[in-house]
Amino acid sequence: MFDRRPTLLLLLALYLLIPAVREGEQLHATEEPAHLELIAHEDGDGVSLFDRGLGIAWSARPDELFGLDAHPDVEAEVERSRLDPATVELRMTLTNRGNAARQAAVTFPRLRALGGPTVGELSYCYPRRPLIIGDRPVRLRLPYSGIFPFQFMSVFRDDGGGLYLMTCDTEAHEKVYSLEKTGNGAEGRVTLGVEWNPRSLGPGEVWQLPPARIGVHDGDWHGALRAYRHWLATWQQPKGPRPRWFREVFNFRQVFLHFALPTPSGAFDPASRQLRLVQSVRRDAEAFGGVDYVHLFDWGWTPTGGRVGDYEPWAYLGGRDALRRQIAELREAGIPTGLYLEGYLADPVSRIARRHGESWRMLDADGKPHQRYAPSLAMCPYVKPWRDHLAATARRAVQQTGAQGVYLDQLGFTNQYRCFSDRHGHPRGARVIRGETQLLSQVRAALPSNVVLYTEETPVDVNVPYLDGSFTYAVSVDDGLSPARVNLSRFVWPDFKTFEIIRCDAPLGDDVESVWRIFFNGEGIWLEGEEDAWFTPRVLAAIRRTHGILRKYRDAFTSAGVRPLVPTLQEGVVANRFATRGTTVWTVLNYTQSPIAGPVLRVKHRRNTIYHNAITGTVLRPTTIDGCDSLSLSLEAERVGCIARTDVEKSGVVPIDE
Ligand SMILES: [Zn+2]
Repeated sequence: MFDRRPTLLLLLALYLLIPAVREGEQLHATEEPAHLELIAHEDGDGVSLFDRGLGIAWSARPDELFGLDAHPDVEAEVERSRLDPATVELRMTLTNRGNAARQAAVTFPRLRALGGPTVGELSYCYPRRPLIIGDRPVRLRLPYSGIFPFQFMSVFRDDGGGLYLMTCDTEAHEKVYSLEKTGNGAEGRVTLGVEWNPRSLGPGEVWQLPPARIGVHDGDWHGALRAYRHWLATWQQPKGPRPRWFREVFNFRQVFLHFALPTPSGAFDPASRQLRLVQSVRRDAEAFGGVDYVHLFDWGWTPTGGRVGDYEPWAYLGGRDALRRQIAELREAGIPTGLYLEGYLADPVSRIARRHGESWRMLDADGKPHQRYAPSLAMCPYVKPWRDHLAATARRAVQQTGAQGVYLDQLGFTNQYRCFSDRHGHPRGARVIRGETQLLSQVRAALPSNVVLYTEETPVDVNVPYLDGSFTYAVSVDDGLSPARVNLSRFVWPDFKTFEIIRCDAPLGDDVESVWRIFFNGEGIWLEGEEDAWFTPRVLAAIRRTHGILRKYRDAFTSAGVRPLVPTLQEGVVANRFATRGTTVWTVLNYTQSPIAGPVLRVKHRRNTIYHNAITGTVLRPTTIDGCDSLSLSLEAERVGCIARTDVEKSGVVPIDE
């Protein structure tokens, strides 16, 4: 630790003082648009943050915009430039002015002591998976990874107006997002910070960090989300097909050829060498109210070659024609099929592991192979020949089977492995995040353009473009920090398909609540296990019911016009909105422990529309006051409702006169 204060050069930025009202935003009648001003204190105490539009001092005291732990030889410079009245961009450069290598740990940006008398009670938005919106004292610290895939955090006031911090890193550097709130009311203080992976700087070496932004906005945390999506739109372009048919998959069925659960059999009968894939999917479709996609888990397994690594089961399966024919038959019936591949593992008996396992596998800090899935070997994604192998295997398997999707297991989380091998060309102890970028890019490029690619968890924003969707564990997180359990990825990337896993390799049992919470997010459900043994009749009924509604209103649920957590009229009741031309659907969740009844939503009145309770199918009659429709529901504790508004003229629906 070194005591010396880092040098801060504040370059004067050009301030554009023209206030601009963005279209469609609601402003408080007596207030000006959000207008961020950073004022540097001459005595060197740092910077204060103001919103001149709302008349708020966001800083309880002046402070530096970063924290640096490094030898005094390491000099810090932060350049500020104004992007628009509400936004300032920061660029930080560290330079080692000395003659020896120096370690540098930097938190940038870092905003301490947000709050104060003009702010009042501060709420915060911490977009981990699932989203946290709260105002209680809290300490949150997560790596940029599948459990925190975004690059922003924000604070906002009950009376409207917020401030966000955002990094603009398009190269998936390792970093940690931290948010801490202490105290309550006007005494409450929030610290936001992004901690970058420490680096060693050689003599004269310069470290230019990715740019960051601080911005202010009107309204609640949605203003920060809007700013983040605005930045995403400047660089993030899907590289895959993102087809409509994949977005319309709601019942996602994992099928086993060999290791079905809970009984150890599958669609392949080794005695007769018969494959009964179509037959087993037909049975599933009856139980679940439909199967929209078949995911073949263990198709590559053979008794001698293992499950993962080579994926050449054809001799054991008696040729590839049977599987190919059945995949084609499912496709004819409107059910696409995808193939499982392991993104990291190769079984020790596989040819690829026997030939290359020793040099390609990842090593832990003690120089030992990772044991998590031993005896399978965990390969390093920074090894190009391993990536080449997976890309070629994915392409070959699709050509051989006619499958329409490829899955890469374990990818997306990126916080589970670090590799300390010195044989792979990466820094010692590197996390796999940037290796996954390269792997996804290669597999995507190897696949035919109409084949979808998906992973086990929704990855960080930089890795999202290579994918069409993913599994996710958002809804299964029940730690009290996210009572609504909103999977924000699903709303940030509405064309990126997500399938919620509630329990992996264990019965879903009687968990009706989770089935409805998946519906609340308008997502797909990942279905595993034999229906009689692993699902109660109540759960099967809930899956059939939600599937029917999702399919009926699929234009709305798969549209780009989605918005999470729209205003509701009751405490403890939250709602998501899914809108397309002529139809708007609201899913409504009562997350309290008590039943609720009465008005839940107020929406602008529109002529020639009709409302339905989408679950019961009955017509809902709104109360119209001052140009707004008020809509009522009765919901038991922890239950989900659904309201659909249809444009009578466009849909041809005729109101029923009751
Ligand atoms: Zn490695």
